[in-house]
Amino acid sequence: MTRNCSFPGMGSFPLWGKAGMGASSLLESGAAGPHPNPPPAGEGADQPLVRAVGLAMSFDVSPPLLNRILERKPRQLLQAVDEASFTINKGETLALVGESGCGKSTVARVLVGLYQPTRGRFFFKGQDVHAALAKGGRELRRGIQMIFQDPYASLNPRWKVADIIAEPLHEHGLVQSRAEADERVAALLQSVGLAAVDMAKFPHQFSGGQRQRISIARALATQPEFLVCDEPTSALDVSVQAQVLNIMKKLQRERQLTYLFISHNLAVVRHVSDHVGVMYLGRIVELAPKRTLFATPRHPYTRMLLDAIPKMHDTGRARTPVQGEVPNPLNPPTGCTFHPRCPLANARCKAERPALQAIGGVQVACHAVEEGRV
Ligand code: SF4
Repeated sequence: MTRNCSFPGMGSFPLWGKAGMGASSLLESGAAGPHPNPPPAGEGADQPLVRAVGLAMSFDVSPPLLNRILERKPRQLLQAVDEASFTINKGETLALVGESGCGKSTVARVLVGLYQPTRGRFFFKGQDVHAALAKGGRELRRGIQMIFQDPYASLNPRWKVADIIAEPLHEHGLVQSRAEADERVAALLQSVGLAAVDMAKFPHQFSGGQRQRISIARALATQPEFLVCDEPTSALDVSVQAQVLNIMKKLQRERQLTYLFISHNLAVVRHVSDHVGVMYLGRIVELAPKRTLFATPRHPYTRMLLDAIPKMHDTGRARTPVQGEVPNPLNPPTGCTFHPRCPLANARCKAERPALQAIGGVQVACHAVEEGRV
């Protein structure tokens, strides 16, 4: 049972579902299986727009069957995401941050339906996405869109900008004529700071920043409420990153958009987010309001990431590079998977995996925080 997910000028992807989430509410320490958070009864004023409950995603990376039989090797699963639970309120931004391979982009792809999760569920406007898509889910697909990392790869080089942006309009039956489509495309281009005449050009005639604006215009074509933004500025020059981020923030204010923002750059996260989730080896290890997280980080991994940021107005404290490397996810450490790099690790850390729990107004998974050692 596959459905189509719109993709910037490159046709469509198989889609099974999508989701998003919000502000005042934070992460929920739900586990997969029997869900501790029952699905919301309906959309209410205080309901999060997006809610993910115990999302997990694993990939089968086993050698071919014949090799496994001959070499007597078992199947091998890579746990890319494990028990990711969170909510996002309408009009707000949750940023997921972490080193490469931590699973943040996998979460993004699960939410827009490019991957079907191994476990867990997510809800968009109170709707169970699985159930809604089983009945068609057309409205749901309109409501959730994605901005990809690479504006060079995500736009079809053979299509004019007018066709790239108009494709989802035609796909969802939102325009009846070419003239109407052109009118909508012109308005979308202007909303991202480009000109209506740009619709007659091809993607190669634009800079990287302008291409990403075209991607944003395309993502907005169906008037979505929730945008999943997967490192939308990391492929751009530093000088144009701020322009694109400011456009995204302006559009969020004007249209009450809700963002899940994936990034490895804490400076960008600080600029755009309301809440921040820090991921390590597939799990969210800390989830907190942005100001709280940057002012008083609790998890040792969050502290390590923040200590590595160069500071313009430094107090004399030396910048500390990130220590160690991310372990092999195919053979993760026992207990807390961060313990080989953690200066606070003890015997309990090596044996027992810490659960994400509410401590002092944030959600954090750390024995040292729980025990008051930090
Ligand atoms: Fe460090 Fe232990 Fe906390 Fe893991 S649980 S982050 S090893 S102190």
